[in-house]
Amino acid sequence: MHATTGTLYIISAPSGAGKTSLVKALIDAEPQIRVSVSHTTRAMRPGESDGLNYHFVSRESFLQMLEHNDFLEHAEVFGNLYGTSQRWLEKTLAEGFDLILEIDWQGAQQVRRLLPDARSIFILPPSQEALRQRLNNRGQDSDEIIETRMREAVSEMSHYVEYDHLVINDDFAAALDDLKAIFRANNLRQSVQQQRHSDLLTELLA
Ligand code: 5GP
Repeated sequence: MHATTGTLYIISAPSGAGKTSLVKALIDAEPQIRVSVSHTTRAMRPGESDGLNYHFVSRESFLQMLEHNDFLEHAEVFGNLYGTSQRWLEKTLAEGFDLILEIDWQGAQQVRRLLPDARSIFILPPSQEALRQRLNNRGQDSDEIIETRMREAVSEMSHYVEYDHLVINDDFAAALDDLKAIFRANNLRQSVQQQRHSDLLTELLA
């Protein structure tokens, strides 16, 4: 067991808010932070790879894992199943890494209930117009599909009040700085510092 246990972070956002790019830039800059790779039954998108973006599994194996209590949390999002593997999560935190779960609001509610020390962050776009544009830029989707995604995004965003921190992703670099500040401040909390600097504290108070 490592001297310091890592902190668990939940990061949610509507599709198109830039969550995945922000989290990637964050972990590229901060080696003590890891991201959990979820299991999902959805089809792989071009550019994705198995084991990196997700563990892509059949509905049948997902349900089997569910039966074996392998998931800390799981949810159905837009017709596909998603879940966070419990075993890897516990091991990574025990090794002292901070760990990010990129999950939706339903998963966030389950994790908060089970692990109340988890910190949660919601990433928002700067406007509805910017969000619509980002959802548009993704491909040659019809107006109808874009409008469906907009409705789904608004429904996801309505859960922002349940989160500890809000980050507005207008300027990418500024949003990344905000994320880093949240992690940095959290690591300076008394309870975390006490674990990390136990020898110093013992010495100072001798
Ligand atoms: P996408 O399929 O676009 O990668 O993700 C769709 C939604 O599922 C996003 O809101 C994403 O955060 C959420 N999601 C991804 N993995 C998990 C997971 O393990 N659990 C839960 N509850 N949601 C997840």
